[in-house]
Amino acid sequence: MTTRKYKELVEERTRETLQKWSEQSVVEEKDIYRFLHNLKGTSGTVGLDAVEAFSGNALLYFSDDNHRSWTEAEWGDYIYPLLELFEEPKPVGALPPLTPGISLSHGNVHQQYEILIVDDDVELVAFLRESLERESYYVSIALSAGRGLKLFYETKPDLILLDILLPDRSGIDVLKQIIGKAKKERIPIIIISGEHSIEVQKYAYSLGVMDYIQKPVDIDLFLVLIKNRFELKKEWQKSIIVDELTGAFNRKYFNQTMKQLIADFRRTGRTFSLALLDLDLFKQINDTYGHLMGDEVLQSFSELVKQSIRTEDTFCRYGGEEFALFMPNTPAAQALLVMERIQEVFAAREFEGKRESFHVTFSCGVTEVTQEAPDADTLVEEADLALYASKHNGRNQSTLYSQELLLGQRETLLNVIIVDDDPLIRRIVTTHFAAWQPGTTARVKVASYADGAIFLESDWYAPEEKYIILLDGVMPGLDGLEVLEKIRSSYPELNILVIMLTGRNNQRDIIHALQMGADDYVIKPFHLPELLTRIERLAHRFLF
Ligand code: GH3
Ligand code: MG
Ligand code: MG
Repeated sequence: MTTRKYKELVEERTRETLQKWSEQSVVEEKDIYRFLHNLKGTSGTVGLDAVEAFSGNALLYFSDDNHRSWTEAEWGDYIYPLLELFEEPKPVGALPPLTPGISLSHGNVHQQYEILIVDDDVELVAFLRESLERESYYVSIALSAGRGLKLFYETKPDLILLDILLPDRSGIDVLKQIIGKAKKERIPIIIISGEHSIEVQKYAYSLGVMDYIQKPVDIDLFLVLIKNRFELKKEWQKSIIVDELTGAFNRKYFNQTMKQLIADFRRTGRTFSLALLDLDLFKQINDTYGHLMGDEVLQSFSELVKQSIRTEDTFCRYGGEEFALFMPNTPAAQALLVMERIQEVFAAREFEGKRESFHVTFSCGVTEVTQEAPDADTLVEEADLALYASKHNGRNQSTLYSQELLLGQRETLLNVIIVDDDPLIRRIVTTHFAAWQPGTTARVKVASYADGAIFLESDWYAPEEKYIILLDGVMPGLDGLEVLEKIRSSYPELNILVIMLTGRNNQRDIIHALQMGADDYVIKPFHLPELLTRIERLAHRFLF
């Protein structure tokens, strides 16, 4: 595994930090400590052994909780010798080959395991991400505890890599908040930390982390460990049919039930209805009352549905806050009444927030199996379309699928916008996404701009539409980071996802981009499948 470019990145960052410090009158001790602490972890991982040893030693002189300020004359003696330890810069021609394209077939995205990395050490994160993607994992990144928590709930990762020392809150805090849910849903949490004290490790294990890996990370060992963890998970998944959080059947059981009911129907003509249920404005519930409360709502909701149905009905958790109900021997009109009754009871239920109590509703779409199209995909599409109509007509209601819905179908408009001065990239993206069909209720519109300023001045935004914006980091006019800043400061974040396209040598822009609210990044020159995968993943957040 090539680590040279990461060595260069670490060196570059080190030089920049020292440069910045030298322009300040004093540096806070805790900043020096943090810098050395990070450096130690990263340098070891990328093979800068002398730097690792040096920063480890230097750390002994500084402390995280000392309030002293250091002048350059003081800190310089300890820190400047560090610069001599980086290797001589290599000739430019010797740069490593580009990331091989990860072999993902279009449409196969959902079987890929997703790993969430919560760590503020950007070089390490970039290195881990690249290594993991070579093994065909999908990686999402949070540079802070807050963002990590948000992504934990929103992207449902299959495994989490968590750092202890984070800029906003301790990783242990994060751990405490998510460990219960992670255990229930069998999401392994692996700590990766430069914190080597036995006490902290014991504590982390006692809370329930799966592994505690000390920085520097031996990447080959690390990858085997991850693979083992996923094999364990796969074994476990085979035997599980109930969703632990809600007690509803899981998606796998949903698929089995669907198959069986359809086979039944084909053989004997025994009919059944399918209802899709989706909690209304659930994101707001989470944002207002916290994710723990959100979980309670999900549990209480499931409890109610289970109590309200017959024994032959099957209630499944279809996705995050989406559920499905099979009702055998039930015509759709009757199923609709069942759903409306549950809706009424649920809407009346009161939840206790910290300051006030609140109510939650859900929307529903109902359809029935028919001779014309007795297959799973059609049924789900129909129920989904009906569900969408319920949402569109004001939520807290149930809609019966009918042909007319197909005609009056109002789709989500998903805009894919590419802002890049490279005409080839613009053309590739435009051509590919013009033909993209991300779901039954979404339509894609593609636009491209050669420059950030032209893009911002254009009339690109409409509040009811969704956006995925690909932003080139370096453009002749306004560059990508400036555009990103404008987007984040002038438009609501909710409907706009941004992917930064950043060059090999500008990889440090990743730090700024992620901190400024980019949702993802791709390194240029990229392989098209990689970009497509990332866009589809992000689109998933909008559409399902
Ligand atoms: P709509 O009425 O249009 O459905 O709005 P919504 O906010 O419910 O829509 P959306 O599907 O965009 O948001 C679903 C949210 O549900 C996003 C995610 O954070 C949250 N969610 C998904 N799974 C869980 C979970 O297990 N626990 C918690 N607390 N939240 C979850
Ligand atoms: Mg919802
Ligand atoms: Mg949803």
